[in-house]
Amino acid sequence: MHLDMDAFFASVEQRDNPEFRSRPVIVGAMPGRRGVVATCSYEARVFGVRSAMPISEAYRRCPQAVYVRPDIRRYAAVSKQIMTILGEISPLVEPISIDEAYIDITGLERLFGAPEAIAAMTKQKILEQVQLVCSVGVGTNRLLAKLASEAGKPDGLKVVAPEQVQAFLDPLPVSDLRGVGKQTIKSIRRLGICSVRDLRHCDLELLVAQFGGKGALHLYNQARGIASDVVGLVSERKSISKEHTFNEDISNPQQIRDCLRRLSSEVGRITRKKGLAGHVISLKIRFSGFETHTRQQTLTESLDTDIAIFRSAWSLYEKSGFQGRAVRLLGVGLSVWEVETPAMGDLFATPDEKLQEKRVYSTLDEITDKFGEGSLTLGLHKRQG
Ligand SMILES: [Mg+2]
Repeated sequence: MHLDMDAFFASVEQRDNPEFRSRPVIVGAMPGRRGVVATCSYEARVFGVRSAMPISEAYRRCPQAVYVRPDIRRYAAVSKQIMTILGEISPLVEPISIDEAYIDITGLERLFGAPEAIAAMTKQKILEQVQLVCSVGVGTNRLLAKLASEAGKPDGLKVVAPEQVQAFLDPLPVSDLRGVGKQTIKSIRRLGICSVRDLRHCDLELLVAQFGGKGALHLYNQARGIASDVVGLVSERKSISKEHTFNEDISNPQQIRDCLRRLSSEVGRITRKKGLAGHVISLKIRFSGFETHTRQQTLTESLDTDIAIFRSAWSLYEKSGFQGRAVRLLGVGLSVWEVETPAMGDLFATPDEKLQEKRVYSTLDEITDKFGEGSLTLGLHKRQG
């Protein structure tokens, strides 16, 4: 089963602010500023407003909407409640994002009834306990469950039984399948393929010639509803990230460097606060026109210090080949595993330098907690950067 909350951020705002109900609500950047729509209510979608649309475009289409800055902390608290409800239905829940999860309901029929009944019960529990509407899809694997929940939106409940798989998939546009980017769509169109049915009738050899073995098999399998049915506990892996949108595009390397330092410090502080350390660093760069690139690197050891995070991010930037281009947005991310770093007692076993570093960072974090972001930062020798 796949569950996806409908217009999640906007729905939470409408729930908590009755005066916003039945009005177009746009959560994201403020009009007149740079940034995009995070989520909008279905009333705003009528005007053609969509997620990830520049806020200026959203304002042009729907100036009468209520514009709200996102309150992620509040949304995360609601998300936690929802995931708890799901955990009461099945022990195997895999959260995919703040408002989306896969739930393995295999073998629960004797307890709760047919898949339709389980899906309906899930929707009902969420509505009763958090007063929010979601869409739910059930299928024999992840692909089908996800497509089924999308097909029913909003307030959807769709079960694709095994014998219905092909009839369900065939009319869908190929762009609905997983991992089909703009480039793939273009190539597919050139082959005269629009629907999943067209794709299914296409020779595997032809697909291999166009997309290579792996890409071809991915398409070939999806067209037949073949996909993974494993619901895993990969939720242990998380990404901690921070990004910054500039009011004006910048190309000055010193400004880029300063921004990456600041973002790295923020990521470092959150990581340490959670007692975590990260092993994959990622850098996000956006140019004008929303052209966005991500670079990432797996590290040989886990990091949690500002300086180490910054050095890795900076080296990704230096290797990116984007120097000199004017940047609109920068982001730094760290993928972490939910594993506790050594307890205080173990600190005495670590070398003096490590211990000192720990103390420096714990002092830094205390001061930042008290006086706010940027009140104290670590110096960095020129030669180190
Ligand atoms: Mg959603």
